[in-house]
Amino acid sequence: MSNPKISLSSPHMGGDEQKFIQEAFDNNWIAPNGPGIFSFENDIENYLENVNVTALNSGTAAIHLGLVLLGVKKGDEVLVQTHTHVASVNPIIYQGATPVFIDSEVDTWNLCPVFLEKAITDRISKGQKPKAIIAVHIYGIPYKIEAIRTVADKYNIPILEDSAEALGSSYKGQKCGTFGDIGILSFNGNKIITTSGGGALITKTKAEKEKAIFFATQSKDPAPYYQHSEIGYNYRMSTICASIGRGQMKVLNNHVVSRRAMHDFYLDLFENVEGITVFSVPNEDYYSNYWLTTILIDSEKNNTINRETIRLALEQENIESRPLWKPMHLQPIFKEYPYYGSNIAQSLFENGLCLPSGSNLTAMERAKIRRVVLKLYQR
Ligand SMILES: *Cc1c(COP(=O)(O)O)cnc(C)c1O
Repeated sequence: MSNPKISLSSPHMGGDEQKFIQEAFDNNWIAPNGPGIFSFENDIENYLENVNVTALNSGTAAIHLGLVLLGVKKGDEVLVQTHTHVASVNPIIYQGATPVFIDSEVDTWNLCPVFLEKAITDRISKGQKPKAIIAVHIYGIPYKIEAIRTVADKYNIPILEDSAEALGSSYKGQKCGTFGDIGILSFNGNKIITTSGGGALITKTKAEKEKAIFFATQSKDPAPYYQHSEIGYNYRMSTICASIGRGQMKVLNNHVVSRRAMHDFYLDLFENVEGITVFSVPNEDYYSNYWLTTILIDSEKNNTINRETIRLALEQENIESRPLWKPMHLQPIFKEYPYYGSNIAQSLFENGLCLPSGSNLTAMERAKIRRVVLKLYQR
C-alpha cells in the first residue's frame, strides 16, 4: 500500500508562475536583471509598504549583504539569537566577524531583551561595542519589537531583521520585514512562498537599494570596461526565479490563511491532551503567519510521551516532524563563541517539535495526522 510522505512544509504553486516564466522567455529576459525582477520587487514593496526591496539569490546572501551594508568587518562582534537557522550566523563568519549568541525569552522564543542588554554591556566592558544585532521572527512569530528596539537605540546598534520565516506576519499592524534598519526575506523551497530558491534585502532608502544591487552584481565601477574598486558578489536573483515569485505573491495571503488554519487544526487536536502546548502568539498585538506550527511537550506532566515518542510515531506513518532548532551556541562549529542566557533555547530544543504546516495539506492528510496522534494517547 502506498503511503505518500506528509512534509513539514513543501512548495505550493498558485497557478500563474508558469505564465510569468513564459513572459520572461517571450521577452528573452532570462538574465538576473530586467523587468521580471523589477516587477517582483515592486510586488513585495507594495505588500510591505514604504521600503525598498532588492531580489537576491538566497536569504543567506541577503543576510551577508545586509552585514556588508551595515559595515560589519573582520574583528567586529555581532549579536544574534541562538535559537535560529544556521543561515542567520554563517554570514557573520563570512565577514570575519564574531557571533555573540543570545538566549530566547519564553513569550516569542526570540531574542531575549534582558540578555541582549547584558551581553552589550559586558562586551563594552571588555573593550568592544557590538556592531549589529540580528533579530529573528522564528517560526513566523514576531520578536519583541519594542523591547529589542529600545535596547538597540539605547546603545546605538543597528538591527538586521531576519524575516526569512515571517513574510505575512505583523506586529500592531505593521508587516514583519520592515522593523529592522535592514531586513531580509527568504524564498527557499520550504518557506511560505518560494521562488525555488531566493531571498530579498529590505532597506529604508533607494540609495541603500542601489548600493545592494551594486554589491550583488560584482561591484562594477561606472566605466566602459570592467573595473572594480570594492569587493563584489554574484547574488542577484535570476528572472526565472523572480517569475515564480510574481506568481507566488498573488497567493501569499491565501497561504497565510491556510497556515493559520493548520495552527487552528493543531490547537483543536491537542486541546485536551495533558502536557502539550501549541505555541501561539503572546497577545493580540502579534499576528503570525504560523509558517510552522510547533508544540512543547512537558514530559513531567506526561511521563510516557516525550518529543521523540511523538516524532517516531509520526515518522512510522511517513509524516515528517522535526525538533526545534538546535541552538547555535551548541553547534560543534560555533561552540567557541560567547553565549549569554539561561538555557531557554536548549530546553526548547529538547522538548519542542515542528509539525507539518504546509498551506497545501489536504483534509485527508490532516485526518491521518489526527489519527496517529490520537492513537498515541490511547491506553
Ligand atoms: C531559511 C532561513 C534563512 C536562509 O534563507 P535561504 O534562502 O535558505 O538562504 C535565514 N534565516 C532563517 C531564520 C531561515 O529560516
